[in-house]
Amino acid sequence: MKRERSVKIVATLGPASDNYEMIRKLHEAGADVFRLNMSHGSHEKIAELHTAIRKVEEDLGSPIAILADLQGPKLRVGEFKNGSEQLDIGADFRLDLDDTPGDLKRVTLPHPEIFAALEEGSSLLVNDGKIRLKVKECGADFANCEVVIGGTISNRKGVNVPDVVLPLAALSEKDLADLEFVCELGVDWLALSFVQRAKDVWDARDLVKGRASVLSKIEKPSAVTSFEEILDASDGIMVARGDLGVELPVQCVPPIQKRLVRKCRAAAKPVIVATQMLESMIESPMPTRAEVSDVATAIYEGADAIMLSAESAAGDYPIDAVQTMNNVAQEVESDPTYTEVIESSRTASRTSVADGIVAAAREIAETTEIKAICCFTQSGTTALLTARERPRVPIIAMTSQRRTARRLALTWGTLCVMTDEFNRFKSAVVSAARAARSAGLASKTDQIVVTAGVPFNVPGTTNILRVAPCDERLIYASDPE
Ligand code: PGA
Ligand code: MN
Repeated sequence: MKRERSVKIVATLGPASDNYEMIRKLHEAGADVFRLNMSHGSHEKIAELHTAIRKVEEDLGSPIAILADLQGPKLRVGEFKNGSEQLDIGADFRLDLDDTPGDLKRVTLPHPEIFAALEEGSSLLVNDGKIRLKVKECGADFANCEVVIGGTISNRKGVNVPDVVLPLAALSEKDLADLEFVCELGVDWLALSFVQRAKDVWDARDLVKGRASVLSKIEKPSAVTSFEEILDASDGIMVARGDLGVELPVQCVPPIQKRLVRKCRAAAKPVIVATQMLESMIESPMPTRAEVSDVATAIYEGADAIMLSAESAAGDYPIDAVQTMNNVAQEVESDPTYTEVIESSRTASRTSVADGIVAAAREIAETTEIKAICCFTQSGTTALLTARERPRVPIIAMTSQRRTARRLALTWGTLCVMTDEFNRFKSAVVSAARAARSAGLASKTDQIVVTAGVPFNVPGTTNILRVAPCDERLIYASDPE
């Protein structure tokens, strides 16, 4: 669907948005990508959402990306006799492998690998970091801790262990089953949670076998440290600020966000900024000024996409939240400062013919009156390279591959249009001109830039740049082939 902005919006689906009507309204309001959170919902429910999204896509004729987010090795405590307990500062609290219900003195932490990795002095954070425990003594099946920051601990609350690289398989049994399920169902992006090292990503890719693009969530300090290798192994990145802000001091999150967004753009891989972007809109129709500013910052930084979590999955105002992001994006992107910032952070490293062609396409488009850059792309790579240039005119990715069109829905500034397969460049130019006109981006008197690889249908051959009129008669009259 054509948008009046370049940044994309990812909306997480959940109880507040789990039917065709809501998904359609969210898409119409601006959601370009839907996220299925595998931590919640049965396979049956996930399949139902998948069907509903594909139906919206078909009814509205616009490619939509589906992102399935695996739970990953999320650690959780067991259950309590009384459901919850109040832990006070200075108290002793024990974690162990005993599966009897917990009390004020202890609770199960059903992960033997963790006990093996803990050391005296290690920190354990419970319930989004609200409770902090410090290990005083530990063994193969227990850790005796002191409560450093107290609070309420309750059934199955999450546990983070920031300062230890955990000897955990990146994919749990549940993740393996979920991965196979969603890959067979047909999702476009698969997000990996709590990635710790590049090997986690390579291992997942071996299982995905190209059925989906693989996105790594950066939410562990070790992932920040090994970011270059992880980026290299991934097709996209999520700055997962929720867990990242628990595992590291919160003030470390903004500089990391800035650095990661830049590196992803330089690598021409899409990056999502996620979590608490419009948190107050879970309960209120109006965002706070600080939230609006946070959304704006991610856009000024050049992120490909911004994400809603509970705001669209479980809040009272899912549509308003999408509209708010849309409005902020339109305002920011029409600010001359935005263009200045984006252009001054353009990366100069160009090594291939395709790099040169996309850079030239952008320059020509900005030097003369050009309405859009239309790129013919099979794998999506040329569209990603064009988006990296962050041109001032819209990018139309023309592809005969439905999966490429869907995956590119996450990429900055890219409108995806399905085309036939072409043998001749001239018919491709005609279809690009029609696509630009029917998207309302150009009229018959306008010009577009077309990039393509000829011969067609050989991936990785971008070698043509043509400035073309949008009137078929002129194309037929002037083009050599
Ligand atoms: P989550 O990931 O919502 O799956 O926890 C995002 C984050 O941690 O920010
Ligand atoms: Mn997370």
